[in-house]
Amino acid sequence: MAVPARKVSKTRGATRRAHVALSAKATTTCPNCGEVIKSHRVCPKCGTYKNKQVIGNEEESTKSKK
Ligand SMILES: [Zn+2]
Repeated sequence: MAVPARKVSKTRGATRRAHVALSAKATTTCPNCGEVIKSHRVCPKCGTYKNKQVIGNEEESTKSKK
């Protein structure tokens, strides 16, 4: 049931939001280039997944990256 905002104390609201914090995303390191990447994703730096080249080739991906 909805409760008017002014009826909920600062402490009660803050206590409810104690579990709202964001957690760090799961990351791993690329076995090819060592970059920190999201797990189960193609490495955005070198374009490999499970040690296989799946996007472009190594030279192109390193040149096009800033
Ligand atoms: Zn990589």
